Amino acid sequence: MALEPAQLGAARGAASTNKVKDGDRIALAVTTANNVPIFDSTAGRAFWRTYRQAQEAGKKEQDAVPCLCCGKEKAPVLTSEKLMGVPDGQPSGTSLLSFDKDSFQSLGWDQNKNAPVCAECSLAYTRGLNHLLLRNNVPRTRVDQGGVAFQFWLDSGSAGDFVENWLEQPDSEEAERLLSAVRTGQLPPGAPDRRLFALGLRGNGGRAVVTDWFDTSLADAYRNLARWFDDLAVQLLFDEKEKGTVYAKAGALSRRPRLWVLCRATAREDKEVSTRTPTALFRAALRGEQLPLVIAQACIRRLPLDGFGDFFTPARIGLIRCTLNRRSSGERNLMPGLDPDNNQPAYLCGRLLATLEAIQYAGVGDVGANIVDRFYGKASTAPALVFGPLLTLAQSHLGAIDNDGQRVNLDRELSEIIGRLEPDLPRTLTLEAQGRFAIGYYHQKAHRFAEIRRRRDERAAGTSPSGTQE
Ligand SMILES: [Zn+2]
Repeated sequence: MALEPAQLGAARGAASTNKVKDGDRIALAVTTANNVPIFDSTAGRAFWRTYRQAQEAGKKEQDAVPCLCCGKEKAPVLTSEKLMGVPDGQPSGTSLLSFDKDSFQSLGWDQNKNAPVCAECSLAYTRGLNHLLLRNNVPRTRVDQGGVAFQFWLDSGSAGDFVENWLEQPDSEEAERLLSAVRTGQLPPGAPDRRLFALGLRGNGGRAVVTDWFDTSLADAYRNLARWFDDLAVQLLFDEKEKGTVYAKAGALSRRPRLWVLCRATAREDKEVSTRTPTALFRAALRGEQLPLVIAQACIRRLPLDGFGDFFTPARIGLIRCTLNRRSSGERNLMPGLDPDNNQPAYLCGRLLATLEAIQYAGVGDVGANIVDRFYGKASTAPALVFGPLLTLAQSHLGAIDNDGQRVNLDRELSEIIGRLEPDLPRTLTLEAQGRFAIGYYHQKAHRFAEIRRRRDERAAGTSPSGTQE
């Protein structure tokens, strides 16, 4: 390309200003009138695309087979570009398609001809995924949980604030506004026509492993999310706080939980969250599917360990409730708070343990390891073995309560629960029943705490008769 004298003069001037020395390299850029490099201009891109297509079309026509992505008869590429940033993958990148050993190849096909994708589609999917895998995209396109990177997008392009609103900050005002609209049958503009996609990727050496793939209508996703958060709600035992700010008061319904909080509820530490957990949660949240029993099992296992209080987190109880309700075949659904008409034996046994705990506290105060610390495990798996002696113990605790009103109230509560139970308590409880036990225990305790607060407030307002406090 010949330079015009004026351009040559400008180049010499720039070289002198920048003190170019012998041996320095100079790069020339050809730009449009608006200073856009020509291959970044619309015309430049169109030229390059046509040129490359012509080149591909002329190449090995005899190899042309239907492309797995676009279905057109084209010569497949032998290797694809690497995906960057897939968890546990090689730092140099991972491949979604790779047939690098003879044993992976069939019928004499070479490399990626075993899963033929044309050059254009190969570039499109690798570059698209590499964009979605970026960690600093705004709005976010990627969520990492349980060692899996999930990428979200819509058929129209970006999934906008979807990840932020529903997985990271489902308690935001924006999420609340959307959810209220969805509940009344109003979907966000455009949602009924859109499809939502999500891909879960995990690395294994040089390969990217697809752990899950979602394809659902955005309208269904919104409707399922509304149901999901309803199914997870539980009445709070304590205030829900974060960094000193109270977000939901004790006695109210729990906040909509974030994805990582739910994952964390199933394990002792983040790194112990099963790789299958986030996938199961996404399926349940976005597609309205059942939660596998292992989710409730993981939560139930955490309950009696190490100590109480902290282990009955709203997310954990919410997950047990959601798992059981979605899997129940005709049984009475578990409510967010105490259900006095639920006569399931396991639920009643859980309520009974909470009442016995309250009687012990009222009678003998804080005794260090109380009956729940000592017997929760056995009571929730083999009630018939434990409750006999505990009921005998309760009689002496009741006798030790000084406040008559409190003793009468607790005795009445105890009789009310026992009256609903068959004389022979269950010998063993299945995993599902252990979940109902946990929720019965939690509900009774949350109910008591709410009652105590109500009476305290009434006393403060001077409207309560004296002698009924607990
Ligand atoms: Zn193609």
